[in-house]
Amino acid sequence: MRASIVTIGDELLIGQIVDTNSAYLAKELDKLGFDVDTIYTISDKKESIKRILLDQLDKVDLVILTGGLGPTKDDVTKKVFCEFFDDTLVVNNDVLVHVTTLLENYYKRPISDINKQQAYVPSTATVLFNPVGTAPGMLIKKGSTTYVSLPGVPFEMKTIFKGDLSTYLVSNFQNQVKVHQTILTYGVGESLLAEILEEWEENLPSDMHLAYLPSPGSVRLRLSVSGKDRKVLQERLNNILALMPVKAKECVRSYEDVEFPEIIIKELQIRKKTISFAESCTGGKLAVLFSTVPGVSSCFRGGIVPYATEVKTSFLGVDSAVVDEFSVVSEEVAIEMAKEAQKKFQSDYAISTTGNAGPTKGDSTVEIGTVCIGIATPTEVYAKTYFLGQPREKVVNSAIARGLELIYN
Ligand code: ATP
Ligand code: MG
Repeated sequence: MRASIVTIGDELLIGQIVDTNSAYLAKELDKLGFDVDTIYTISDKKESIKRILLDQLDKVDLVILTGGLGPTKDDVTKKVFCEFFDDTLVVNNDVLVHVTTLLENYYKRPISDINKQQAYVPSTATVLFNPVGTAPGMLIKKGSTTYVSLPGVPFEMKTIFKGDLSTYLVSNFQNQVKVHQTILTYGVGESLLAEILEEWEENLPSDMHLAYLPSPGSVRLRLSVSGKDRKVLQERLNNILALMPVKAKECVRSYEDVEFPEIIIKELQIRKKTISFAESCTGGKLAVLFSTVPGVSSCFRGGIVPYATEVKTSFLGVDSAVVDEFSVVSEEVAIEMAKEAQKKFQSDYAISTTGNAGPTKGDSTVEIGTVCIGIATPTEVYAKTYFLGQPREKVVNSAIARGLELIYN
């Protein structure tokens, strides 16, 4: 079954709002077995909406549109629906009661004329209940295409999708099951990994698809297959994974769709160990990555961002003689930073970063992209130097990946 997604709004086209609705819908539709064919972002203009409705007719089985359902003048989706489906707006009593109670209970005010308009829907539309807002979703079929319109506000759109809409989609569309297997690898670049996997990839069954999703320091592989029975498909994927070359398996850090920090956190929790960070060039990003994982308090002690050299020495406690002798970006300083973090945060492990992420060399004695990473463990402390190139964002993200890889090993 083919689907398309249309997000409506001038604010999306000028980059004022980032379109998160289509990412959510694409993921959910994929889970329900739909093949999302295309994602469109279009303007609020009547003609644009009309054009896309016509364009999608009989091309896909399902079109989901978001936005332009509000009561304001710039929200014209309902009017366009009436023209396209040759329909008229009628009051839906259930929606009227819901909007009235919502306003009375939560906003402590009576329903206004503008709010009343929310209860008007095209007469042939199936109403999709919106428990968290005033604009209902609606669904109308024309030809072989089912059109769904949802509010633009992300939490309202999601609530309707999870509720009335997914119920409808599950009972009205017989889709194939899709299974995606994620393979998270670290420490090997995309092209080298592709070389290692070449023969294995060439021998994949013709209905299996392999995708490479690289990011600094890691490559996420996605192996996908679709069919009728989820269990059978997963078994087929497992059999294929077992045949992966040993050299590639050594780089695998997880077969789940997770981020690397989560893997390390799990490992620390199992071993009942703790970690802390002293981050100069990574500016606290490691701490952010860890602190966003729920339940991390059992193993994450804290972090410090000693960005300026004086803060490294006077605040964190790095010996200034070491800075003077070896320069602030050096393995010796990284070792001191990791040792101090481990001591001050009373953690079993610590990671430190010191480097020059660019874009200018400044008065740094090292080349742009040089990063020293320090690792303190219960039994040893050491550091490594990496040359991570440019630009700044890549240097920082690569440094994080290298630090995590070192602590994992
Ligand atoms: P409302 O009843 O609030 O007017 P609506 O259905 O008319 O809802 P829009 O007016 O298009 O929706 O958008 C409302 C808000 O929802 C926007 O200001 C924006 O913050 C957010 N929004 C809309 N579309 C998207 C999208 N595709 N991704 C992320 N946020 C979005
Ligand atoms: Mg609006």
